[in-house]
Amino acid sequence: MIPLLHDYLHRSINEIRNWQNKWFTFSDDESLNVDPEKLESTFQEFISRLQGSYPFFHPSYIGQMLKPPHPIAMLAYFTAMQTNPNNHALDGGPSTSEMEKEAVAEIARMFGYNEYLGHLTSSGTIANLEALWIARELHPEKSIAFSEQEHYTHRRMCDVIRTKHVEIPADTSGVLDVGALRERLYSEDIGTVVVTLGTTALGAVEPLHEIMKLRSEFNFRIHVDAAYGGFFNLLAHEENPIIDALPFSCLSQCDSIVIDPHKHGLQPYGCGCILFRDPSVGRFYKHDSPYTYFTSKELHLGEISLECSRAGASAAALWFTLKCIPLKADEGLGAILRQCRLAALEWCDLIRTSSEMYLVVEPMVDIVAFFPRASEMRASTISHLSEKLFDRAMNDPLSPKYLSTLRLKTSILRARYPEIVEDSETTTVLRCVLMKPEHRRYIKKFHHELEEMIQELKKNVNL
Ligand SMILES: *Cc1c(COP(=O)(O)O)cnc(C)c1O
Repeated sequence: MIPLLHDYLHRSINEIRNWQNKWFTFSDDESLNVDPEKLESTFQEFISRLQGSYPFFHPSYIGQMLKPPHPIAMLAYFTAMQTNPNNHALDGGPSTSEMEKEAVAEIARMFGYNEYLGHLTSSGTIANLEALWIARELHPEKSIAFSEQEHYTHRRMCDVIRTKHVEIPADTSGVLDVGALRERLYSEDIGTVVVTLGTTALGAVEPLHEIMKLRSEFNFRIHVDAAYGGFFNLLAHEENPIIDALPFSCLSQCDSIVIDPHKHGLQPYGCGCILFRDPSVGRFYKHDSPYTYFTSKELHLGEISLECSRAGASAAALWFTLKCIPLKADEGLGAILRQCRLAALEWCDLIRTSSEMYLVVEPMVDIVAFFPRASEMRASTISHLSEKLFDRAMNDPLSPKYLSTLRLKTSILRARYPEIVEDSETTTVLRCVLMKPEHRRYIKKFHHELEEMIQELKKNVNL
């Protein structure tokens, strides 16, 4: 991939220069000059400071939802950035606005949306804000409900738009408890329910199909936060899917969907996406435009977006990526996600028979959570061992592994392992995000190395 980037980056610079040479040549104003020595020393300092980062690119990094963009996305982003298009307006980014519409159409098609209103945003948070804002505009008096496991930004954004929210407890698998939602629908005036496909903590997929059934009884809107899990939809439509297909099968009937191409869509940061099933919600963005305007070919993205300036380069990168790595199940992005999902399933098989580890929940996408197994199953002991293992793995001199820790209610663990003594309300476990296809090749190795580390840690603390 790197030689590819090398060759194409040169071509990218040359091609854009050729295009610029269509206008009369001029020399840069002297005020723009940079002292070459300053440039060189700053470059050196810059490179050395960047190296203070964790190796997100490497299979041994399984800590957070972080990985580099695909090289073709970097190439397209850099190439477009040289012309610095702004997708706020058609004349700010004439070519990249077209690319945005085409890329968003691909995503809408993946979800089974025929008519829709949608655009890219700078993040999943902003995309969710737009969805909640429209929810409030449609039902100003009603509240917005979500589970306590939902991304923390939903709570914050309800404050921003000054809308009441109702928090629904999560069940023992970490997803919105449908029974509890039903009760709250009786007692509260809920206008919109937020359902997450792929929670940030455990990658849990909430039972959208069951929540849909409640909708016919109580008549509320559904907003799906699929920022993390949305692209797993590609794996849901085959004969024997390797994920639970039911929640994904209802996506086309939901009122709005958020998906983050900068999470599982191989994009650099700055690329979220919001889709509404009813294009007429465009009227809230621009009050004096007729409905037809919002589906016309001349759609002005700046008039259906909460943000003003948006990087056209972001749209270019996504467009380019989807051309080369299409939204298909057996090839393109589906083939990449399949490796991630299989890595999670294969690791779980190993954990299930391990004498050193316990699985927290069955993984629903590609996030695996486990905790070290001790003879004495006290919540505080588990937390202590988890934290030790986290440090030990990251500081291994030969083969460091970067995991993350996650604090869960001890009751979630006790549902599966009643022998755990609840001497603390929360328990720290280890969380591993297997979002790079290469993980699959190394899972066995990591598993055995982590098992050895746990044995060694237990010896040191006499457990
Ligand atoms: C990451 C994430 C968000 C927030 O998106 P950003 O792009 O980080 O702003 C919201 N919801 C879920 C489920 C996420 O995983």
